[in-house]
Amino acid sequence: MSANKIGAKRIGIIGAGQLAQMLAQAGETLGIEFAFVAPEKDACAAPYGKLFVYPYLDPKAEEALGSWSDLITYEFESIPVSLVEALEAKMAVHPSSNALTLASDRLNEKTMFNQQGIETAQFTTVDSLSDLEAAAEKVGLPAILKTRRDGYDGKGQVVIREENQLAAAWETLSPVACILESMVSFKREVSIIASRNLDGEIAFYPLAENYHREGILRLSLSLQNDPKQQEAEQIIRKVMEQIGYVGTMAVELFDLGDKLAANELSPRVHNSGHWSMDGTIASQFKNHLLAITNQPLQDTSVQNATAMINLIGSIPDKKLVAAIPNAVLYDYGKKPKPGRKVGHINLTADGNNDENFIPNVIKLLNMVGQQELVGELLKSNFYNHKK
Ligand code: AMP
Repeated sequence: MSANKIGAKRIGIIGAGQLAQMLAQAGETLGIEFAFVAPEKDACAAPYGKLFVYPYLDPKAEEALGSWSDLITYEFESIPVSLVEALEAKMAVHPSSNALTLASDRLNEKTMFNQQGIETAQFTTVDSLSDLEAAAEKVGLPAILKTRRDGYDGKGQVVIREENQLAAAWETLSPVACILESMVSFKREVSIIASRNLDGEIAFYPLAENYHREGILRLSLSLQNDPKQQEAEQIIRKVMEQIGYVGTMAVELFDLGDKLAANELSPRVHNSGHWSMDGTIASQFKNHLLAITNQPLQDTSVQNATAMINLIGSIPDKKLVAAIPNAVLYDYGKKPKPGRKVGHINLTADGNNDENFIPNVIKLLNMVGQQELVGELLKSNFYNHKK
């Protein structure tokens, strides 16, 4: 491996959840030390570096992380842009505050996609009930009212099917700024993840097919040679080059059959890329660190098909998981709580003709209480390609 061109030995991460934890784990082999800033004392990244416990808007958050670190990154987008800008004024921060500004507002993000010629659901801004009524006329129903900011895992969204639901939907989300989006009828949801270093080199990961329940990602399947791979790569390349992006990024996409439409971008490592910890040479976490320290990026190709199953609310019996060959359980060390992502399992196929792979994915889905996804798995491109 070439030397870390910018000489960063200490990376400061804004946020200290599981994404920060997995970044720090990936950094161990690169000789990088980590510090985190977050408001929670019991943040799960804490065992992997130094934790500064401050609210993000406390000036001490910026002071402590900035003076400890050579370089700053962040693990999620629900952080104040002002903190990133303040750090950026005195040191290198990747991805930039511009990327964060863009990604933390659905209106900005969707407008940018359209300006780049990238398809999205039809959308329009909503700041009042009368805006919403006009928007429903324009976009049509059914549609989804979404807050422009701070929505994640399906939070901050209301599906509107009938005109008589408009007032209640506005009541639920108001008074914050929203957008109304047309309901897209997609064949499947996929995401493309890529890493781009300071020199502009880009490494693309194979597409992941994603399955959500209650707005939360449950299952991701990565597959070699997906027919939409190139189209997805063009989309993320355009976005990355347009904003001079540095780091790992994810773009969630709807596969409409004849084309892809973009839903949202994440200026960070992403849940649908966790399969890469076992399914490729270089995980999305490792390539993020290589990208922000401007080193050559490493191999992202799928070695064998991998399924990633999120553990929501609780960790299953680890002995039962360990009994399944090639299943790796990641326990983030978080307190179990309904709806909380507390870990994930990666299951990698043993070669190209592993007859046990799909049955083992099904076994794991049953084990973790996600049996309702089995039907979708059997209908997926992934399954039909593997048969
Ligand atoms: P989001 O927070 O925008 O990522 O939305 C969470 C999930 O809601 C997506 O993964 C889709 O399953 C669904 N969804 C969001 N927007 C739309 C849309 N315009 N049409 C259909 N489904 C959507």
